[in-house]
Amino acid sequence: MTQIYDRVALIGLGLIASSMAHAIKRTGLAREVVGYARSDETRQIARDIGLCDQIYDTAVEAVTGADLVVLCVPVGAMETVAIDIAPALKAGATVSDVGSVKRAVIDAVAKHLPEGAHFVPAHPLAGTEHSGPKSGFAELFDGRWCIVVPDICQDDQAIENLEALWRGMGSHVDRMDADHHDLVLAVTSHTPHLIAYTMVGVADDLGRVTDSEVIKYSAAGFRDFTRIAASDPTMWRDVFLNNKDATLEILGRFTEELFALQRAIRTEDGDMLHDYFTRTRAIRRGIVEAGQDTDAPDFGRVKS
Ligand code: NAP
Repeated sequence: MTQIYDRVALIGLGLIASSMAHAIKRTGLAREVVGYARSDETRQIARDIGLCDQIYDTAVEAVTGADLVVLCVPVGAMETVAIDIAPALKAGATVSDVGSVKRAVIDAVAKHLPEGAHFVPAHPLAGTEHSGPKSGFAELFDGRWCIVVPDICQDDQAIENLEALWRGMGSHVDRMDADHHDLVLAVTSHTPHLIAYTMVGVADDLGRVTDSEVIKYSAAGFRDFTRIAASDPTMWRDVFLNNKDATLEILGRFTEELFALQRAIRTEDGDMLHDYFTRTRAIRRGIVEAGQDTDAPDFGRVKS
């Protein structure tokens, strides 16, 4: 694989940044990968596991001389980080991010960047419920999509280089504008997370009534909700606060559908329920055929 960047700086060293560090190193996409994290503890862990070529105590030191800077912090922290690093950016550097929301990040970050910096936001559609510098692995992005949002970048080469980096890390790359991204992700990720959080909350309330039955007999459906609902609270708080309109729009539609299903159960409209579930089953088949999940029973889980 060809080297695309000389020095890449990762700001924030959690799941996504640590996976990027491993994936960039796997095929030599940059000569040097450096990093910065807010807390002493995270920086120390990153040093202990040899995550980057160099871990700095300040974001300014990390971005100095970097031709690519990637903001890998929660969406609500992007603006503070942008203000901090802006004066230290190398002329002509590309700045990107991996935030799960795009319009709010563009609004928060772009205005602080110096003229000549190329801002190319991106969002890898890959993750796990784990956080922190030890949770990353080189294969996280393999075969998954990364959405690049070129809305405000005038420099084609900067966009193409970032796309080449994501392809080099194993992703398929697509371009979208920021608002479309936020709506699509409200449907495919943000609202489903909210529903999972709610269902686990309901079960938790019930659990108090039925002692430990909810946990003891948790079958695959509920178990998958608990996995999703174990995702990082800071990250998800910021997602909902920063993708408010699209999430509320999809949640409104969800509530209407839920009422329709509720009525079908009450009126014993079996045909309606059967047709509905047949339609949704076809969507699952489509996801498997598109290579975005396994067809193995129980999602390919290995019994331990
Ligand atoms: P993570 O594992 O929780 O790591 C977050 C990192 O950001 C940590 O290094 C943390 O530093 C730092 N940080 C937190 N708050 C900060 C603040 N106020 N100022 C400066 N640094 C701060 O998170 P992640 O899962 O990698 O997520 C990072 C970004 O990727 C988020 O914007 C998220 O929306 C996006 N994303 C996540 C996923 C996913 O599934 N996890 C998928 C795609 C995109 P300390 O450790 O020092 O506290």
